[in-house]
Amino acid sequence: MFLTKLTIEEIREGVDSKKFSLLELNEAYEKEFNQKKSLNVSISDYWAQAKENAKHFDSIDKKPALAGIPIAIKDNYLIKGTKTTAASKVLANFESPYESFVTSNLKKAGYSMPFKSNLDEFAMGSSNEFSAYGNVVNPWILSDNVLRVPGGSSGGSAAAVAANMCLGALGTDTGGSVRQPSSFCGLVGFKPSYGRSSRRGIVAFGSSLDHPGIFTRNVQDSCYIFESMAGHDKGEATSLNAPVPELTKIKGNVKGLKIGMIKQDGLSSHYCSSLNSLKSDLEKEGAIFKEVEVPSFDLALSLYYIIAPAEVASNLARFDGIRFGVRGEGSGFEEIIKNSRNNFGAEVKRRILTGNFVLFSDEYDKYFGKALKLREELKARMQELFSEIDVLLLPTSPGVAFPIGTAQERCPAEMYKEDMYTILANMYGGPSMQVPIGKVSYLSDKPANKTSEFDFLKVQDGLPFGVQIMAACEREDLVVMAAKKVEEIVRWEGLK
Ligand code: GLN
Repeated sequence: MFLTKLTIEEIREGVDSKKFSLLELNEAYEKEFNQKKSLNVSISDYWAQAKENAKHFDSIDKKPALAGIPIAIKDNYLIKGTKTTAASKVLANFESPYESFVTSNLKKAGYSMPFKSNLDEFAMGSSNEFSAYGNVVNPWILSDNVLRVPGGSSGGSAAAVAANMCLGALGTDTGGSVRQPSSFCGLVGFKPSYGRSSRRGIVAFGSSLDHPGIFTRNVQDSCYIFESMAGHDKGEATSLNAPVPELTKIKGNVKGLKIGMIKQDGLSSHYCSSLNSLKSDLEKEGAIFKEVEVPSFDLALSLYYIIAPAEVASNLARFDGIRFGVRGEGSGFEEIIKNSRNNFGAEVKRRILTGNFVLFSDEYDKYFGKALKLREELKARMQELFSEIDVLLLPTSPGVAFPIGTAQERCPAEMYKEDMYTILANMYGGPSMQVPIGKVSYLSDKPANKTSEFDFLKVQDGLPFGVQIMAACEREDLVVMAAKKVEEIVRWEGLK
């Protein structure tokens, strides 16, 4: 039996009927992890503790919801007893002084924490090539033998779940960092509503946009993890104070569901044909489709690259080597600060500079002030839209996983377009789930660079892509209802 292929429900059943133990489950995942280390998915690992935890729950009859389930955590969540680096040299020696709210919830639910996953530095990026701990490799490979990116910024979490190195993983989604890598790695990626899971104890990027999110290989596993991690946090000002919906109980059903779709201008042909066939399958199940207009994606993208950097400039000001962060050499105050802040990578510096520019008093009204007003307008229009439809069906990313190194060749603004479809949900704060729907074979003309360290990778017949299902704030129930039906129709099989 392939223990690493089982769902949470199958694991419970297997453990209850004594077919295998939670310890054996963790050992099976650890084996995969050790065989596939070259994917570089983790920054630090804790298998000994994960197995101890599994053993503990093996000895207990009444097991909590996620007892012994290996869930990796992106290395920007504070977990007591671990380092939290946010993949930055700045935090190379930072010991987590307390536990994030979300991981303490998962702990109560009994999960095993096998490793902290790699990411783009401070979660800024779309390819996981901007980590101080090296890039992450996507386990999906084609006959061209070219290594591709897993997407970002939560690339380590995505690659690890796709390669069966853990059952699920947490990421953070500020502009798409859970959904885009899920699309690139053929996974379910779930970003619940803003505030549904607390941001306390997660290294801040853009506080009004940051969302804890979940990677799994199927929708129901994502719902189980959601139910354990979500909930009101009195210690976090933007935490939602509302009951957590019981998503595991929801069945896939689109009968009478009003689904909005945008005009498919500019979408590549593989997307158009898959979307059209999905649409007709959903119609057969009773869904009612409506072509809708959403606030322009270009607008959401521009707003994001003003608001997010402004919040970055403010949130990252604390890393000066005195209050937080590795201290740079220097004989005086200014020199110490300068050398400490020089530990940031190029992309982070770019965001800090942009952020300080848009906040600068001469430019404030022209950029930041205006962006805030337009964001309010966009929120109002999305609210209006969701009075006409139940869910919105959109592509997740304009493309599929691209070869490693492409990001360096592209100009940064070109890379920012990776998030053009995902940012919308961060802007208005609604839930969005990415579900894989197909594969496409785009062979690269780059020279093959797969070395023998990657011999465990099997050649696939295409690279994955998916759709995201969005709904009004707090309507995760509608998202999951539709996502479960899409999953049933698509019958996605994942990595061979
Ligand atoms: N790729 C986007 C960025 O670079 C989104 C990142 C994220 O969601 N953390 O900002």
